[in-house]
Amino acid sequence: MIFEQVFNMINVGLVVLDQDLNVRHWNRWMELHSNIKAEDIIGSPIFSCFPNLDNPKFLRNCKSVFKFGNFSFFSQKLHRYLFPFKPDSTFGSEFNHMQQSCTMGPLRDESNVVSHIYLSVQDVTEIAAYERKLVEKNMQDGLTGIYNRRFLDAKLQEEFSRHKRYNRPFSLIMCDIDLFKNVNDTYGHQCGDVVIKHIASLMGSMMRDTDFLARYGGEEFCCLLPEADFEVACSLAERLRQAIEQKEVTFDGQTLNITVSFGVAYMYDEVEHAEALLQMADDALYAAKKSGRNRVVAAP
Ligand code: GH3
Ligand code: MG
Ligand code: MG
Repeated sequence: MIFEQVFNMINVGLVVLDQDLNVRHWNRWMELHSNIKAEDIIGSPIFSCFPNLDNPKFLRNCKSVFKFGNFSFFSQKLHRYLFPFKPDSTFGSEFNHMQQSCTMGPLRDESNVVSHIYLSVQDVTEIAAYERKLVEKNMQDGLTGIYNRRFLDAKLQEEFSRHKRYNRPFSLIMCDIDLFKNVNDTYGHQCGDVVIKHIASLMGSMMRDTDFLARYGGEEFCCLLPEADFEVACSLAERLRQAIEQKEVTFDGQTLNITVSFGVAYMYDEVEHAEALLQMADDALYAAKKSGRNRVVAAP
């Protein structure tokens, strides 16, 4: 009686299955989240209501728990969920399904034989949502919302390895706002920040979903372009340059004309490491600055 109350009040889903994988117990938590009453599922195979569990991995786990009496864990990171329940509305927009951490284990009879198995289901959607936010924040630049340098460095290494292994092309564009100190000195840092955000948003809107735009430093940006050859990268840089030149920025009732200089580098076999490619783009950017700014220079 007391155990039954605990079984039904605990904030964890609990299910007991027999050797034929028929449901023998289904606690209140499972009723609430599945909208299936215990009396409607008890006696039926678990697959009758959850056909997604009729897969080789789940069956293998059940078999092994019955045979060896071991425990099996279904982590949220790997499986997301076992039971496709709706998430709590607070996290509804983050996930389509409640994120679950589940355990399967043996239940023994008086002769110490595993006669049943239990499944416990824990709702970890809140933790998963926080974790996802942390991961996003960790790769995001605070001012502009585009990728940060940490993310770019990691992505660059990834693309570099992909090129070495599969010979996939990719290009890099480094850019730096021209005479930005003047903006800060004349209109103040707040205006400078508005300009940085404007450039990030304009460039972001002109790039493909598969490209990566990152804030490399103060008023420096880097575009990593997977699958883009030299011509594609140079023509994108030129389009970005023209768009920025043509679009005025307004701040506090004043209009500013901003220009940006670009350096483009393309990955080829002789480039020995990812940093070398960055250096090539940076050298090209320096050349663009030296030759008068507001221009695109391609690395030789
Ligand atoms: P150049 O054309 O040679 O690039 O000239 P520049 O004036 O842009 O020179 P530089 O790139 O050295 O100047 C960068 C300036 O950007 C210096 C720094 O005060 C400013 N800066 C860096 N980060 C921020 C930021 O987050 N907000 C604002 N408002 N200014 C920043
Ligand atoms: Mg700079
Ligand atoms: Mg600058």
